[in-house]
Amino acid sequence: MGAHDGKFLPRPTPETEIFWLGCRNNQLMIQRCTACGHHQFYPRMLCTECASAQVDWVQASGRGTVKSFTIVRRPVTEAYAAETPYVIALIELDEGPTLMSNVTACDVEKVHIGMPVTVSFEAWSDDITMPLFRPAT
Ligand SMILES: [Zn+2]
Repeated sequence: MGAHDGKFLPRPTPETEIFWLGCRNNQLMIQRCTACGHHQFYPRMLCTECASAQVDWVQASGRGTVKSFTIVRRPVTEAYAAETPYVIALIELDEGPTLMSNVTACDVEKVHIGMPVTVSFEAWSDDITMPLFRPAT
């Protein structure tokens, strides 16, 4: 049994495939509209700002801040039991988009809104590497 067996793993789709490939290469990939410069996440066919179909992929800085968070003290399933308590957070990337992730590598009681964080990557299966966030140093 691996540490992540039984967890709910994302299933890459044609629209998210590049994102998950990036994570496997330790790169946080987000979309950028070449027409208006808007960055977006999650991946979509069209720019959410100007509706252009000219959306490209760029590597994000990996830096952001905690926009909101909750501390999970009761695991949703046994697969998460060893990790409680853990933090689920909305991370606002420096580029603008918000994504949901975990804040790891620090005491859960130290996590706060506005906290600067940086991305790290953790392989949860052969196919899925998860982008996690930790306090920025
Ligand atoms: Zn646009």
